Amino acid sequence: MHKDTLQRFIFEKTPIRGSVVNLNSTLQLALNKQHLPIGLKRALGELMAASALLTATLKMNGSLVLQIQSQGSLKLLVVECNSEFGIRATAKWAGDIQDTETLFDLLAQGQFMITLDPKDGGQTYQGIVALEGTSIATILENYMLRSEQIDTKIWLCCDGNIAAGMLLQKLPDTMNQTIHEHDIDTWNRVGHLADTITDDELLQLPTETLLHRLFHEEDVRLFEASHTKFQCSCSRKNVAGMLRMLGADELKSILEEQGKIDINCDFCGAHYQFDAVDATQLFTSEITSQLSKEVH
Ligand SMILES: [Zn+2]
Repeated sequence: MHKDTLQRFIFEKTPIRGSVVNLNSTLQLALNKQHLPIGLKRALGELMAASALLTATLKMNGSLVLQIQSQGSLKLLVVECNSEFGIRATAKWAGDIQDTETLFDLLAQGQFMITLDPKDGGQTYQGIVALEGTSIATILENYMLRSEQIDTKIWLCCDGNIAAGMLLQKLPDTMNQTIHEHDIDTWNRVGHLADTITDDELLQLPTETLLHRLFHEEDVRLFEASHTKFQCSCSRKNVAGMLRMLGADELKSILEEQGKIDINCDFCGAHYQFDAVDATQLFTSEITSQLSKEVH
C-alpha cells in the first residue's frame, strides 16, 4: 500500500502548482545504514521528502543537496536528491540522544545550506542561511521566500518508518507586473484548505484521495507519478579523486601506519580499499592524464 512516488499537480488556469511525495522503501533503505535516534530519523525523513519536492520544482538536470549543520549534539544532516528522484541521506551527531529529543533540541548555531549541482558542467549554486523557524518546513518556506522570492508552502511528516510531504508554490509573474487578484485569492484559499491536512492523512492517504479531500472544489490536474528510490552516487573513481586531493605524502603515511587505506561511504556503507600499489597508480594515472593534456 505504501508507495515511493512523487506526483505533480497544477491548479488549472492559475500560476499555482504543487507536488506530493511518499517515501517508503526509499526512506528505509537510506536510514538503515545507521543506528539513528528517532528524532534524527524523523528529521532526515522530512528532509528527504523536502528534497524530492524541491527537485520537482527545478528544471535542472543534476542533484540538489540539503544540509543542516550545527555546533550542538547534531553536527550534520545531509540529503541528496538527483533529477530522477534517487535519494541518499546521512547524519552525524555526538553523544547520547534521548528518544524525546527532536532535531530542534539538538541544534546550536545551526545553518541551513542548499546546493544545486548541475550534471552537465553548469555552475554550482550554493545558498547558506541561519536556521529560522521551528520546523524543517518553515525553514524551507523562509528560504524560498527570502532567497528565491517564491511563495512556497510545505508540509512534511515522518514517523521514522515512512515519510511524506506536500508543496504548493505560486510562480512569480515574470511576463508583466500585473497582479492578478484572483490568483492571490486562489493562493490564499488553497493554502488555507491545505492547512487542514493532518500528519496521518499526509502519511496514509493515496495522493489522489488526499488532493480530493483538500481541494475537491478546485480544478486540479494531477500528473503521472514519478518513482523515488534510494540511490548512492559514490564510486571507486570518486573515492580515488578524494584520495588524490589528500596528496601522496599523506597517503604514504596512512599506508605505513595501516598497510592499506580503508574508506567507507557514509551514505550507503560501501567499502573501498586501496593498497600501496593502488595508491601509486592514483598518482601515475594523474601524471599521465596531465601529460596528455599538455600534449593536446
Ligand atoms: Zn555510497
